[in-house]
Amino acid sequence: MTDQPEQQLDVLIIGAGPVGMTLHLALAAGGQSSLLLDRRPLQAQQDDPRALALSHGARQLLEQIAAWPQRAATPIETIHVSQKDGFGRTLIDRADYALPALGYVVRYRDLAGALASRLAPDACLDQVEIIDITPGDERISITLRQGNTTRRLATRLLVHAEGTPGDDPAVSVSDYDQHAVIAEVTPLPGHGNRAWERFTADGPLALLPLGKEYSVVFTLPPAKADAVMAMDDAAFTAALQQQFGRRLRFTEPGRRSRFPLALRLRETLVKGREVWIGNTAQTLHPVSGQGFNLGIRDAWQLAETLLADGIDTASLGRYASLRKLDRQGSAWFTDRIVRTFSNDFGPLKLARGLGLLALDLCPPARHFVAKRMIWGARAWP
Ligand SMILES: Cc1cc2nc3c(=O)[nH]c(=O)nc-3n(C[C@H](O)[C@H](O)[C@H](O)COP(=O)(O)OP(=O)(O)OC[C@H]3O[C@@H](n4cnc5c(N)ncnc54)[C@H](O)[C@@H]3O)c2cc1C
Repeated sequence: MTDQPEQQLDVLIIGAGPVGMTLHLALAAGGQSSLLLDRRPLQAQQDDPRALALSHGARQLLEQIAAWPQRAATPIETIHVSQKDGFGRTLIDRADYALPALGYVVRYRDLAGALASRLAPDACLDQVEIIDITPGDERISITLRQGNTTRRLATRLLVHAEGTPGDDPAVSVSDYDQHAVIAEVTPLPGHGNRAWERFTADGPLALLPLGKEYSVVFTLPPAKADAVMAMDDAAFTAALQQQFGRRLRFTEPGRRSRFPLALRLRETLVKGREVWIGNTAQTLHPVSGQGFNLGIRDAWQLAETLLADGIDTASLGRYASLRKLDRQGSAWFTDRIVRTFSNDFGPLKLARGLGLLALDLCPPARHFVAKRMIWGARAWP
């Protein structure tokens, strides 16, 4: 094992996922260097099965760092929202907003690939294990291992972008008792660029147009998710069809994966010279497709604040207060949707139906929901 001399950095970002890479590229665009670290090979992101619905606002930010995966993105032109076995439905249409699309669906791997293609060859150390983090007044010392080499780095600012946190007393966890089973299916006669959000007693079912397929997020209690994961393709398609209804027919289901779902909120975004962004700051239920959209706004706001105000603890304090409304509002909005819609309680079902009907009949209410999807933070009053 060899010891290398300490390297002095301004900004070190742990986690080269989409949020960490966005921060690195946004800082670089403003002339500020940073180093990314990841425990996995960057190539491993190409195995991620998720598809992400990205807002129009997220597209605009990615375009500014030349990382918008144009050819891999499928536009969403309408979103149909309804509840299973109940009345009421609403339709959100891009035509009402004079935009080419309400949002876009992109595979995680294509987004990560577009961002990684913009990185300089020395921008990221991957396959590293962080052994120690020691905070100091002016700098934080980090010891890491890469292969047989142990390295010591010192940085003025340490950004955590490691994705969903494990057990951590600084993070509050509220379990939904739901798992998301995801897969791609082919719809007949075709999706017509329409996304579907269907609320069921088991949890929400989302269908996102992706190429010629639908990317399905099938939310279920854990035991039912076990059963759905174990089904053969024909039984899986039948279960999906049963949950969705008969308006479309599904064929050719692809590989299935599952994700347990919980709301994880970090109480404090900043501690000394450390800051938390993206999923490690807040992990939401995927029902409203807000996770990465919120994470990219974290990364963008942090880059703007550091570039404008400098790398110091006062800038981090300003960053935390600037992000408060968006992250708390998005977490609250998403949590309310999941908890209000994921049950079969009669009076609540009636209220949901009336709510969906009201959304459909009342353009200002519908526009509020639509604008949150399109713009995120800028839609808050
Ligand atoms: C089923 C599902 C559907 C979703 N749908 C949507 C959607 O439609 N729209 C949307 O906006 N969001 C969606 N999300 C959320 C979205 O996937 C996340 O918000 C997004 O991936 C977060 O990016 P990130 O960079 O913060 O974390 P990640 O993507 O998790 O990346 C974290 C990176 O950090 C690395 N890392 C972890 N620990 C360490 C360590 N100790 N040292 C070094 N590196 C480390 C990892 O290897 C990884 O590369 C969905 C999530 C799920 C589960």
